[in-house]
Amino acid sequence: MTFLYRDTLTWGTATVSVGFTERRLDLGDLAAAAAREAALAEIQEVTGAAPHLMHQVHGTGVQMVEDWDAAAGPPDVDALITAQPGRALLTRAADCVPVLLAADSGAIGAVHAGREGVRRGVVPATVDRLRALGAQRLHAWIGPHICGACYEVPDEMRAEVASAVPATHATTSWGTPALDLGAGVRAQLAEAGCAIVEVGGCTREVPALHSYRRDGAEAGRMAGVIWRTP
Ligand SMILES: [Zn+2]
Repeated sequence: MTFLYRDTLTWGTATVSVGFTERRLDLGDLAAAAAREAALAEIQEVTGAAPHLMHQVHGTGVQMVEDWDAAAGPPDVDALITAQPGRALLTRAADCVPVLLAADSGAIGAVHAGREGVRRGVVPATVDRLRALGAQRLHAWIGPHICGACYEVPDEMRAEVASAVPATHATTSWGTPALDLGAGVRAQLAEAGCAIVEVGGCTREVPALHSYRRDGAEAGRMAGVIWRTP
């Protein structure tokens, strides 16, 4: 099994598929190159589409992959989009929120929304870009991420993020300040007029998922993958 969760959506003649990988695959930059290449090859085989990675920098940059010279390496952005079939867009995460987007225009997107990405609005920035390219209706999948009851942060950090995105304000199960990044992304997607599917699963609590908070600097990375067939 490559994907813990898989879904398919048909818009007109286009079929969009999404999947979220399981712990067996480590797509992180710290994974041994051979293991990561094997994981990418498995994704290419399962999806029948060429995988595209990004070098995630906790910003709000959005890159259309057909405008990027792959020879330059992965772009320093937190969102990839494409209007072409045959490409698989990957967003990699351990506790951050992976978001996949499908537009009725046929365009698709993959977004990495961590604490800074949620605060700075990488998800709304990606939706805006898809709308500028002709999207009317949008469908979003929110992948597994650390839940609000687990993601402890200092009080000042909670205040800073919640002042930008109030829905993120949370408390851990042990009573300390926390952030609910998934709730923040959900609010941003709803505000942007997207239909939303929540895949569920807290990365810190579910052993089958990679978690930075649980496993530390050695943690692997899972991928949210979206691809389209004509
Ligand atoms: Zn949790």
